[in-house]
Amino acid sequence: MKVKIGIDIDNVLAESYPAYLSKFNSQFGVEIQMEEIREFYFLDKYIKDNKKGKVREMVNFIDGLMLDVEFQTGILPIPDSIEIIKKWSNQGIQIHYITARPVSIRKMTEVWLKKHGYWVNEAKLDLYNFNKHSNDTDFKKEVADKNNINIFIEDALEIAMGMDIPVFLLDRPWNRGKLKKNIIRVYSWKEIEEKLPRVLNGVGGKN
Ligand SMILES: [Mg+2]
Repeated sequence: MKVKIGIDIDNVLAESYPAYLSKFNSQFGVEIQMEEIREFYFLDKYIKDNKKGKVREMVNFIDGLMLDVEFQTGILPIPDSIEIIKKWSNQGIQIHYITARPVSIRKMTEVWLKKHGYWVNEAKLDLYNFNKHSNDTDFKKEVADKNNINIFIEDALEIAMGMDIPVFLLDRPWNRGKLKKNIIRVYSWKEIEEKLPRVLNGVGGKN
């Protein structure tokens, strides 16, 4: 049976939060640090709690970045992820990118994946459709179930907690805390690569 790995994009392959944060900080003259980000949708909450009345401006700024080709395609890849994914693909593993980015930025997302060499043979890409799904956790679980994904790689705690399959959770300031048994906290892509065979054996997936 072909092994299938579901892989999130933002903060798993792409250094997204540092990129957004640096733009946001310089635009609004604030100094939010990565370590302060205690929840995945931190900036949404920060903007909502903002007392300076710049809520609309801040929301528009973030939305603008989301659709900004230059910004999006300039986000840096996370070390080792490209080489490891290429290696897996060459071993016959199916790579399936599953992201809560909106379907409206599919093209930009593909451009980024291709630019950095993530678009391996038979790669698949699913993005979030507001008309079809009510939240990102249900969306990712549904795609994983429908495609018989064996293992997921994620940084959002809620999404990892919503999965029944093994999940490698890349350690980030916003996902600290107690985990379910199927979730393995990891600190690098090298660690994921090293632990994958053992986890695959545990779920009976044979390459
Ligand atoms: Mg993510």
